[in-house]
Amino acid sequence: MTIPILFDMDGIILEGPRTEPQVYADAADAALSDFGVSPTPEQRRDLRRHGTDAVERRCAELEIDPDHFWKRKERYASEGTHERLRSGERGRYDDTGVLSDLAERTTIGLVTNNRHQTAEFVADYYDFAFDVVRGRDPTFPGYHRRKPDPYYIEDALASLDLNNSDTNNGRRGLYVGDFEKDVTAGTAAGLDTAFVRREHNRGLERPADATYELESLSELLDVLDEL
Ligand SMILES: [Mg+2]
Repeated sequence: MTIPILFDMDGIILEGPRTEPQVYADAADAALSDFGVSPTPEQRRDLRRHGTDAVERRCAELEIDPDHFWKRKERYASEGTHERLRSGERGRYDDTGVLSDLAERTTIGLVTNNRHQTAEFVADYYDFAFDVVRGRDPTFPGYHRRKPDPYYIEDALASLDLNNSDTNNGRRGLYVGDFEKDVTAGTAAGLDTAFVRREHNRGLERPADATYELESLSELLDVLDEL
């Protein structure tokens, strides 16, 4: 019997809590250039950001298809992120080395609010042995299903096809993250949760529902013994 351990990506696998805003700014500019439109500075500012209502409104003003724009921006943001990983501008945390040991002992997965294309790239680029990889779909509904919504965690669990005999005393698995939204989403999906301390979340209180608080991913070997 294996108990799935699912990992958040930004701030857990990849260094730093999130994608740099400049990556999205560049992605929006590249997409706008493809559409051959000339936005005002205000329109460009809104299109570089994630406010989906504003993006829809600005696309309507510029007479471009918002779904098409969004998908293209997401793709360019993925390409920009992958370039930063290849160049070493951004790296992975050293303690992710434990994932190969964990993969030998149980089911592991990657479930992130980040783009699915980037999640797949990260799994492949670092050769992690994830049994499932799930990131957000490049659509407006896909964006709104991010954590704390448990949608992508539940979707990943469903794809692992775990049956009830795979639960251990009612414990279905573990979600590992660096923010309260990870604990909220993991708990809502019926999982135990591990809140991992990183430099960027030192000042935050431990989320009330977190099952574990860890200083390093290497502690997961002991947690797995408990699960
Ligand atoms: Mg995170």
